[in-house]
Amino acid sequence: MLMRIGGTDTAGIDEYWIEVKNPATGTFIDRVPSGTSEDVARAVEAADAATGGWKKKTMRERGMILFHAAALVREQHKDIAQVLTEEQGKPLREAIDEVRGFANILEYYAGISARSSDETIRLGTSGDCMVVHEPIGICAAIIPWNMPVIIMGWKIGPALLAGNTMLLKPASTTPLSGLKLATILEKAGLPPGVLNIVTGSGESVGEAIVRHPLIRKVSFTGDCSTGKKIQAMASGTGKELTLELGGSDPMIVMDDADIDRAVEGAIRGRFYNTGQTCTAVKRLYVHDKIADAFVKKLQKRVESLKVGNGLEPGIDLGPMNSAGQRERIAGMVTDLIDKAEGAILAGGCSLTGPMFDPGYFYSPTLVSDVRPGSRLLNEEIFGPVLPVMSVPDLETAIREANRSRYGLGASVWTNNLATTKQVFDQVHAGIIWVNRHLTVPPEIPFGGINESGIGRENGSRALESYSRTKTLFLGW
Ligand code: NAD
Repeated sequence: MLMRIGGTDTAGIDEYWIEVKNPATGTFIDRVPSGTSEDVARAVEAADAATGGWKKKTMRERGMILFHAAALVREQHKDIAQVLTEEQGKPLREAIDEVRGFANILEYYAGISARSSDETIRLGTSGDCMVVHEPIGICAAIIPWNMPVIIMGWKIGPALLAGNTMLLKPASTTPLSGLKLATILEKAGLPPGVLNIVTGSGESVGEAIVRHPLIRKVSFTGDCSTGKKIQAMASGTGKELTLELGGSDPMIVMDDADIDRAVEGAIRGRFYNTGQTCTAVKRLYVHDKIADAFVKKLQKRVESLKVGNGLEPGIDLGPMNSAGQRERIAGMVTDLIDKAEGAILAGGCSLTGPMFDPGYFYSPTLVSDVRPGSRLLNEEIFGPVLPVMSVPDLETAIREANRSRYGLGASVWTNNLATTKQVFDQVHAGIIWVNRHLTVPPEIPFGGINESGIGRENGSRALESYSRTKTLFLGW
């Protein structure tokens, strides 16, 4: 059996269980155990017991299990997506995309399992060397609520293929999709103890994971401040860390851009997943020459977006995932209004009343002429609020784009090669899109610089990050 560990004492139900509720309706969906450090220790024992057997399998054998799991996920994608929408809030269409994305990741890693990166180095008369990649051992994944399915895939795909065993801690508001996927992996042939899900809070389960001496790598995705705490806790332990943290991605639209395409890019880039995406467009800079026409079209599109329960057809934005997330966004917009730091062109308020209560809905919001000191430009806006500013030239756009402690992604909308090169060379980010934003297929490395994090997910680099090289030197 795949282990699913959490607090098991049902005597004090409130103390021992986490209730999962639909953020669109407040309806109770299910409950999961509120785990403790003892549960983490038991999961580590299970992973430790499974490590030898899993490591001994060939990469192709492990890849076949991932491939089989991907096929089962595809078969059941509608059921998994339904669970994801219910617990997270996103429109069902986006949940289906995300579940298919998870299958894509497993298939990608299954596909590269046939390609060994081990090497032989011949040193003439001194000898020959063989460099092999070995798994790290027990790795942990701590994941957030915004894209719980895809982020689980980003971590377990390369980690399991490389031969590691794992503990995974989902966020407290979105544990159900991950548990469902773990059951599918088990059906696909993943041996007991190879993947262990421990549900619970960050303070109890998350910290116990980071502090456990047998866990040799932690891959964390979440808030910048949590990432810093984890880095401090792991300091001096020699544990490897991948930190995928926040972002404040700029989007630059130049005067030669296809305006309609760029408007649609901004809509998807900002409002997908109700704006709760790490690489969402969080600051939009438009060239003066096209700013009026662009903003007029954008405003119309923002006003046309349909907000509601993600399970209903035709919905563009679901609720925010929690009351706290909505309060934070509402607080940032209220600050801007109170301090006259910008002009609200659309939205700008929580959506309440019989159509929306008790869901955590917020109106798609467009704000123009935002002052440099505003929180909207200096903090991560993790919700459906888009600040748009006009700029006189590319140099100003690049300077403003770089005015951030983050460096996750950025995009430029242009047909000019020289503009593209200038942005690519000068904007500080882990990925620069041209006439695109947000797209992250499994093949390309993904991750940030500066306070957006350390390390890369996806692609062959992620696989390498879950392994260590070991060298055999043969002296003849
Ligand atoms: P969060 O940091 O609050 O929580 C993330 C996970 O960490 C959860 O499972 C949580 O329970 C756990 N956690 C909380 N405190 C902990 C602690 N002290 N020790 C160990 N674990 C702890 O983040 P969130 O609000 O769930 O996620 C939103 C953030 O994630 C945003 O900043 C977003 O930009 C970022 N994000 C980044 C990426 C990326 O790839 N760079 C992707 C998605 C989301």
